[in-house]
Amino acid sequence: MAIRGSSASGDGSGHAAGGLIARFSGRAATNSAHSGSRAEKLLESYEASGQGWFWATDRDGNLAYISSAIAAKLGRDTTELLGAPLASLFEDGKEVGGRSRTLSFILNKKTKFETMVLKSAAVDADIWWSLSGQPQLDAQGDFDGFMGHGADVTDQQLANDQTDRLTRYDVLTGLVNRFQMTQLLEKTLSAFQVQDRSCAIMLLDLDRFKQVNDTMGHPAGDALLQQVAGRLTKVIGDREQVCRLGGDEFQIILPDIDDRGKLGDIAGDIIERLSQPYSVNGSRCIIGASVGIAVSPWDGKTSEELVRNADLALYAAKDSGRGRFRFFSSDLLDQAADRRAIEDDLVDALTNGELQAHYQPVVATATNRVEGFEALMRWEHPERGWVAPSVFIPIAEESDLIRKLGEWILRQACMDAAKWPSHVRVAVNISTHQFLDPSLPKQVVSALANAGLRADRLELEITESVFLEANRDTDKIFKSLKDIGVRLALDDFGTGYSSLAYLKTAPFDKIKIDQNFVEGLTEPGSRNPAIVTAIVALAKSLDMETTAEGIETMDQLSMIQQLGVSHIQGWAYGKAIPFDESAGGFTGGDWIITPSGPAKQRPKRHSMFRRAGAVHENHYYPMVIKNLSMSGALIEGILDVPVGTQFVIDFGEGQLSVATVRRSRKNQQGVEFEEPLVDDGNGGLCTRHRVPSYLLKASGIPSGPISERGEEMQSLDISKAGLPAFRTDNGLQTPLMTRGQTSN
Ligand code: C2E
Ligand code: CA
Ligand code: CA
Repeated sequence: MAIRGSSASGDGSGHAAGGLIARFSGRAATNSAHSGSRAEKLLESYEASGQGWFWATDRDGNLAYISSAIAAKLGRDTTELLGAPLASLFEDGKEVGGRSRTLSFILNKKTKFETMVLKSAAVDADIWWSLSGQPQLDAQGDFDGFMGHGADVTDQQLANDQTDRLTRYDVLTGLVNRFQMTQLLEKTLSAFQVQDRSCAIMLLDLDRFKQVNDTMGHPAGDALLQQVAGRLTKVIGDREQVCRLGGDEFQIILPDIDDRGKLGDIAGDIIERLSQPYSVNGSRCIIGASVGIAVSPWDGKTSEELVRNADLALYAAKDSGRGRFRFFSSDLLDQAADRRAIEDDLVDALTNGELQAHYQPVVATATNRVEGFEALMRWEHPERGWVAPSVFIPIAEESDLIRKLGEWILRQACMDAAKWPSHVRVAVNISTHQFLDPSLPKQVVSALANAGLRADRLELEITESVFLEANRDTDKIFKSLKDIGVRLALDDFGTGYSSLAYLKTAPFDKIKIDQNFVEGLTEPGSRNPAIVTAIVALAKSLDMETTAEGIETMDQLSMIQQLGVSHIQGWAYGKAIPFDESAGGFTGGDWIITPSGPAKQRPKRHSMFRRAGAVHENHYYPMVIKNLSMSGALIEGILDVPVGTQFVIDFGEGQLSVATVRRSRKNQQGVEFEEPLVDDGNGGLCTRHRVPSYLLKASGIPSGPISERGEEMQSLDISKAGLPAFRTDNGLQTPLMTRGQTSN
């Protein structure tokens, strides 16, 4: 090859440049010395300006010409480069961004290409080039290599990278952002679906983050989020799998994990690590985390479905006390639908007059005299009947409906209380949202004035959660309420964080000791009496009253009377009653209640009845699980099964577990699982793995939740079973479909 020869044997770039010009002009270099030298100069000065450079290859894609300036930039010598493949100048020869074509591929196609961005191979600093090239033909019209142009586009590339980062990563934490995560998840799921692979996601929400942000300021909140991001990536390992969705919400994607034992361990690990104290700007703070988990394909095939279901699981985790993880299960969907229906109906409940205030008496311990009532909301739903406040109040709190409901009961309770004797107080529950609403003091003043009720006859019950959500206004709100002259009670003491610190700073008149402490009060060895004694002593020293809540039995009553609480509320003195009954109880201005109730607290039984199925050979037996542990279960419903029999226990939704009968008596068997169950994060158990629904279908095992299957099983005609089988209590068992058969 002429050009290569001339430069290799010559004294450097000058000849090579001459060669290149020769090729451009279609003449041999030696034949155009004069015009060549001017062109050469032009070329040299152009290349020296750094705006661009030229290159040429032979038929095989090896360098035949390259500007010496560029060789220098690459830390190489021109002579060294000539003859080397052009593609070897670039990192893996792949186009940056875009279509991921390789340079070799393009050169092989022998067609023109433009502004292909490539990264330099093996230089100290990152350099990007934009390359264009044109195939050349020889005199016979045969392909004779490429000639082209290059330019340094490093600055542009770095700027692009930066924008790219901004669109794909969260600026504060450096984690993947929502946009990028959604794309990644969609891509992963559609690829995995074809390959029959599973993919889990976790949604994570910090508990009490808002409080840190509100009390310590946003810069502290930001610093905290960065530390959270750091701890999360430590647990997960791969930074690209952890995403900050925004605010204090994170998402983690875990490809190829369907083992719920493992997932539970990871979630537990995350919660534990994030709950360790943080040091932010020199102050210590503690937050927590809740996690919802969904696994594809079982819990959703599209990213939308999977994320929605993980979100439902997260919601349930938060609802069951925070600091927990929870797996998605299909009953969460029903619960969510139910919650929405209740929320819709609750909007109208107030205007339709379906809400009532009922009153539960509070008596003085020493005299059994009624000194007040707690107003408790009651809802008679036209179709559902009585809906418990423990069901609808949390829903109202989330939708902010609570402000309306709260204001209504506040007004109603004041009006009702005005009709009781003047020493009788009314206590009204104030939810946290209501308490933090700046218009609360105004509402209280208005409710009192409207009813003509003395301020000290109204007691507002608030829970410790107001301190957890506390903002800078909390003290102000306390002060304005005290200025009005109403009384304040700390409700549910003993259920939350029970920090005695709150008691010292907030102006409470009363502590309500939660039923938690009352339950088990009389059990031998219980520490509850000591705790109650301490609370009572503390309250007395701070000049506060105490009410023990939820006293049901006579032994609880006599114990609590000895512990010195000033007031008692509980079924022993009566449940909440309608206003008319409460007003009718007073004779001569007083109402003394003689307590009554069971002598002793009956131990709570934790027996469980969970429907399940057992598969043996070709039969499906509906049965009931009476007792369940990680390693085994007590099942009931199949008669006379020999010890050693192997069943497949079907817990529903693809949860199958191989079990061996270890004990057998009539219709009960103790079975041992081949693989132990795992914690489901909700105080229950689940199988590690699930069987995909297509496999269930093929084996004839129904795939939905067991609870929905009872009817279906019973309507099947078992006389067609044909095969000998165990009998069940009620004669039920169902032949399973074999592969190929269709069920209908
Ligand atoms: P709470 O404020 O702790 O109310 C006491 C609950 O204990 C009431 O349940 C009451 O009926 C129940 N209780 C009282 N004595 C006994 C007993 O001896 N044994 C047992 N097992 N339970 C007893 P209820 O009425 O179902 O209310 C549940 C929760 O709903 C209340 O807990 C309160 O947090 C909320 N709630 C009720 N009414 C209102 C309201 O008007 N506003 C707000 N914000 N919350 C309310
Ligand atoms: Ca209360
Ligand atoms: Ca309470």
